[in-house]
This record gives sequence, C-alpha cells and structure tokens, in this order.
Amino acid sequence: MKKYIILEPDVFVQIKGKLVLLYHSYNGSRLVYNNPVIAELFQQNIKGLHIYPILPHENNNHIFNELIKQIEDNNMGFTVTSSTVPIQFYPSLKIQNDYRKNIELFSKNDNSLSYLHTISIYLNKGGVIHNSKLPNNAYKQLLCNIEQGTYMEMNFGRLKEMLYNILSLSFLDRLDFLGGDLFAYSELNNIIVFLKELKSNTNLFFYLDYQSALMNIDKIQEILTIPNAKIVFCISKNSFSYVINDIIKKIPVDKIEIHCLVKTKNDIEFFENCFSQDNVSNSLFPFFNGKNARFFENNVFIRENDFDEMMLTLNQVLKNTVLNSSFYGKIIVLPNGDIFTNMNTKKIGNLFDTSLVSLLKKEMIETTSNWFLVRSKVEPCKDCIYNFLCPPISNYEFVLKCNDLCNIFPLQK
Ligand code: SF4
Repeated sequence: MKKYIILEPDVFVQIKGKLVLLYHSYNGSRLVYNNPVIAELFQQNIKGLHIYPILPHENNNHIFNELIKQIEDNNMGFTVTSSTVPIQFYPSLKIQNDYRKNIELFSKNDNSLSYLHTISIYLNKGGVIHNSKLPNNAYKQLLCNIEQGTYMEMNFGRLKEMLYNILSLSFLDRLDFLGGDLFAYSELNNIIVFLKELKSNTNLFFYLDYQSALMNIDKIQEILTIPNAKIVFCISKNSFSYVINDIIKKIPVDKIEIHCLVKTKNDIEFFENCFSQDNVSNSLFPFFNGKNARFFENNVFIRENDFDEMMLTLNQVLKNTVLNSSFYGKIIVLPNGDIFTNMNTKKIGNLFDTSLVSLLKKEMIETTSNWFLVRSKVEPCKDCIYNFLCPPISNYEFVLKCNDLCNIFPLQK
C-alpha cells in the first residue's frame, strides 16, 4: 500500500528549482514553498497524472504532513492509500489544432485566417495638422492614431478586397480603423457605403482625432449608421474638457469609447473624477514618457498579492503557457500594407506582396513570433514560478526594455 497526494483538476503546479507554486484556479488560492524536498515530491508525479506518491518512509515526515494539511485546507486535493495507482489527469490545454504537435493545422482547410480575432487598419497616417496632444510615439504603447510624418493613405481597391475577404469570416471579433486623421482619408465615404452594405457582425471601431471630429459631426453620424460601429477617442488630460464638452454631447453616449492616456497619479485622479458623473465608457492607459518610472512601479508593476485578486481560470493559466494573449490573433496593417503583430517589433510582411494566409502561417511557426511570446521564454521571467499567472508581455515591456515589471522576482532569490 502506498500513500498518494491527488490534486484537484483545477490545481496548477509550477516548479522552479526548489520553489513550488500550487494555484487553485477555482478559488484563486495559492501555496508557495521554497523547499527542495517539496519540489522533489512534485517532480515525481506519475506520468500524465495529477498524482504524487509519498514513499513509505516519508509517511510521518512533518514537512509532508504540513503540506497535506495546507492542500486539504485550501481544497486543492486529498490523499488516498492504495495498492494501485489512482487516476486523476493532469490539467492540459484543449487546443483543437495543436501546432506544437505538428498536427496538420493548415493543409486541410487552409484556415489560418480563423486565428485572427482583431485587425487594426491604418487607412492613412501622418500629415495631421491638428494638435490632439498625444505624444508622437504613443502608438507604440497603445492603439491610437499616428499623426506624425509624411501623409500616406491606403489604396481603396486593395482595402476593399481585404475587407471583403476578412469580414466574410464570421469569427473576426473586432476591426479597428485608425489614421493620422480618418476624416482626411479620401475614400471614407466609400468605406462607409461598403461597410453598410456588407452588414458584418464584426465590431467596428473608428479612432477619430477629436479636433477633426468637432468639424465633422455629420460624418460621425453617418459612420454610426454602420451596424456595430463605435467611435474611439484617445485623449490626454489636456484634451479632456474639449472632448467632453464639445463632442460627447453631440453623439450617442453608448457609441463612444474614451481611451485616456495617464502619466501620473494626478492624471488617474483627474479622469476618475471627470467620468464619475458620465456614462461614457472609458479606460485608462498608462503611458511611459521616459521620466515616470516611479509611476509605473507604483501603478503598473505586479505585486505578489495582486495574484490573490486575479482569479484566473485554469484555461487562462494554461493558455499563458502557450501563447501571448496581448498579441495573439491580432494584426496591425499600415497604409502601405506592412503588417505588424506588435508596433515595437519589425513587420511580419506586406499584405500587398504576400497573401495574408501565408503570413499568418509563418507567424504560427516562427520561434520569434509575438503571438507565442510567453514569459517562460524570456529573462528573467523564465525562472519565476509566477510566469504563467503573470499578465502576458505587453508593449510596456518593449518600451521599458525590461520583462520583469514587478517587485516579485528578486524576492525569490
Ligand atoms: S519575474 Fe516576470 S513572471 Fe515573475 S512576477 Fe515578475 S514579471 Fe511576472
């Protein structure tokens, strides 16, 4: 007869050297051990099973007795004594087509487009004469218009062909239209007509320059006659009162999203006060300006007790082992056809030179793909027990040139 620890199927185990993390995705409870004996126990799991044998001479070991008590107290598992090995499967991610196992992902239906869920298209860029008060490089940290540089716009014929192919795919969740200034796009009327006729189920977001918007309220009303269309304004503290007073009151509030760029704690308080009275959907986006590292440390960096509030599902944790949900399934297309999965890394190709299908196929297998940029691949996160609980790598890690935006990792050493 042997004693076995059986963990619940919702319990995720991570081991790094002598550190062990048990995370219960059902109730968010977390046990962390820094003990080589416990690490060894969890390395001995029976292949493919969530079963951990305790050898007869270890039965009265106080370390294991305490461990079992904590596991039971947190509803993470229980023990059985049995002459046969019990069955409890190790949690695993259910992916229909697993590219890692070389299952034929593309050859049968050539369905790589189905991995896309968000496309952000810049219809034009540069040449904006208005001053919307966003920093020049804001587009590297959040999705927003690119106002600087020589004016350039996307060929309408090619755009129409791409939109027709993409929007006929029912699985595309979101399509963003951005610009320098979308009202300057010479084919905006044609796009509106085309999208109205297409009647797609995809959610459409038009990112508008607020100063141009004020002069184009009629055009905004037209955009909003497209099914599932919404307007987004990216603003900083300086442009808030202008937007709220002059524009929001002229268009239905449920069709607007405001993305607020925040650089300081004061900015956060400012926007929280501004929106407390309004029903406008708004989100705060921290912006790193090279001088506000302390603001990031206090407001963006992960702290160990943040994990207590995350309540990640097991599937979210397991997804973090395989893909980066900040970037996965998303592409950004510039007016010249260049495609990016992240504006801080080089383009993956050009839409007008190569088919989107073949570019996405490449993205699915490239080892440097942003779609699969998980923390277990990068320093120092690869040695951290929290690397699958931590939020995925985002644009901030690229801009701050640092992957461990946390105050946790040094404490583990
Ligand atoms: S070291 Fe990386 S994985 Fe670990 S907590 Fe910090 S950011 Fe997250």
